[in-house]
Amino acid sequence: MPDSTTRRNSRPLSQLAPPPAQGAALSALALLPRDSLERAARHVGLVLGSPVALLGDGTAGDGETQAPVRVALLPIAPGTAAVFRDDVGAAPSDDELPAVRYAAARAYGMIPLLGGRQAQPQEGDSGPAFLVLSSRARAWSRHEQLALRDVAASLAAELDARRELAELHLRVEEMRQHALRDGLTGLPTRALFLEHLALAVERARRHKDFRFAVLSLDLDRFQVVNDSLGHEVADGVLVTVADRLLSCVRGEDTVARISADEFVILLESIADDSDGGRVAERIQRALAAPVPTDDGEVYTSASIGIVLSSSGLEPPARLLQQAGIALARAKAAGRLRYEMFDSEMQTRARARLRMETDLRHAVDRGEFEVYYQPLVTLESGRITEVEALLRWRHPERGIVPPLDFIPLAEETGLIIPIGSWVLAEACRQVREWQLRFPREAPLALSVNLSVKQFSQPHFVRHVADTLRASGLDPGSLKLEITESFAIEDADLTRAMLEELRELGTRIYLDDFGTGFSSLGYLHRLPLDAIKIDRTFVMQMDEGPTHLQLVDTVRALAHNIGVAAVAEGVETESQLVTLRRLGCESAQGFFFSRPVPPAELERLLDRDPRW
Ligand code: C2E
Ligand code: CA
Ligand code: CA
Repeated sequence: MPDSTTRRNSRPLSQLAPPPAQGAALSALALLPRDSLERAARHVGLVLGSPVALLGDGTAGDGETQAPVRVALLPIAPGTAAVFRDDVGAAPSDDELPAVRYAAARAYGMIPLLGGRQAQPQEGDSGPAFLVLSSRARAWSRHEQLALRDVAASLAAELDARRELAELHLRVEEMRQHALRDGLTGLPTRALFLEHLALAVERARRHKDFRFAVLSLDLDRFQVVNDSLGHEVADGVLVTVADRLLSCVRGEDTVARISADEFVILLESIADDSDGGRVAERIQRALAAPVPTDDGEVYTSASIGIVLSSSGLEPPARLLQQAGIALARAKAAGRLRYEMFDSEMQTRARARLRMETDLRHAVDRGEFEVYYQPLVTLESGRITEVEALLRWRHPERGIVPPLDFIPLAEETGLIIPIGSWVLAEACRQVREWQLRFPREAPLALSVNLSVKQFSQPHFVRHVADTLRASGLDPGSLKLEITESFAIEDADLTRAMLEELRELGTRIYLDDFGTGFSSLGYLHRLPLDAIKIDRTFVMQMDEGPTHLQLVDTVRALAHNIGVAAVAEGVETESQLVTLRRLGCESAQGFFFSRPVPPAELERLLDRDPRW
């Protein structure tokens, strides 16, 4: 047996043979581990009663090895039959196998490895053969020949098994490659991108002047393209975008597609930090050109978030996340923008995430409360209505005002369960007050709605069910919507509002004057009142312009036949003015701040007149 020294120096056996007709044979040879050949050599040794070595062992001349018998594998032409030669002479002819000449063998046996798979050799199928070389001329007895064929057969069987395994590996690797490439654009996927990014991070750690930038890019309003023009067109757009992105970067940069309409780019070896922004601008210019489609063209644009390696070498997934945070900022700032990630963004993003988690728990933990603010009818000066205003009693932060968490609740969709809780709780509470403080006109309730709630399917039925459960008459409920409702989908909004009106509930248009204020749509909405935003009311005392503004909104309301409600009344003089202008009702700190139920009860009990 070869010792460990020769083992280390040994060359692959296949190198000793002439180049095979086909690569397949060579790889088949490479498939059999050395151990198998050594085992075969031992068997041959037993059969022939002689020391046996592997051909190709030993460093200097193989011809000088001591072992009288050596074995090897070699590639052969397809259809070659087994042969046993007793004596090839001292100088074998050129026709003899090169390995025979190389090993200076006098006799040899060569047996093709015909495994189960090669029982019927395919055309061009060149498998390996098992070669037994003797340094002396010898006759091969029938018994020896059969035994050597057995050794070859077991090698062939092993080769078969290994081939199958190798094919399996190949397929697994193919699948892995597949997973690393996006099927549509051929771009790397997130997994492959992260691998590239990991290498860049590694390199930046070792070489101080190696800098890189990660760009996260998202196509603005791509969903609209998808929904309106169909998947095929959308796919075509994505392919074009991928091409354009590639044309904006250098060969060593990586462009990957990480979700439907999100791409990330790794810019390697940027000269300075402004390169990231320059590439972002170049990309935005490239994407601005229309994408031709079968029946027209599509316009795309992209928002881009950038994180630089110079802002701290975080792990790859974290860098991707930071680029995403910058992207979200870019989108929030308006389309077609790019933003650089900075640590302040990080802090904000963390706080936001924390808040989001807390908000999720708040629903289950019952941390919400409803406060109530009275609305006063100006003719009588009495409280006729209350507005339900949500409060969050945070375990550490105390009472959190709605403007600090409602936008997040809307973004995350949490406003749906929260809003439906507010509606149910407020209806229940006001019904209770109606029974305890009976009046000729029962106390009314107004509840703020979010667009998200409103666009829920079966929202109208949900309102009806909630009312029924609480026992509150639909006529006592006013739902407050804002101008943004109509902007989403004016026709749908109108239809839904009609349904709610049929139910008996009333509709208030809240915060009027702060939104996009296209007056055209106002006439088409079924409304019962317009609430004049508090910023106008509060500035009324400051001069004639603001007073005029309030009066214009009031006139507008009356013009379309709805009531005018003034918000944010803080002073007696404001109240006097509003009365004079002819507003129907008012609400504000002058009467009462939003208060917990117990406090509002005292007010109802006192029944003050203003
Ligand atoms: P909003 O609907 O305009 O509610 C009136 C807001 O004005 C309340 O703020 C109230 O405290 C404040 N306010 C009332 N009178 C005065 C005054 O005289 N002076 C001043 N400076 N402010 C006054 P709040 O309670 O912080 O609510 C803010 C906003 O949060 C609400 O504005 C509403 O848009 C939203 N919101 C509150 N509760 C809910 C809810 O249950 N669901 C939804 N979707 N939004 C809600
Ligand atoms: Ca309101
Ligand atoms: Ca308001």
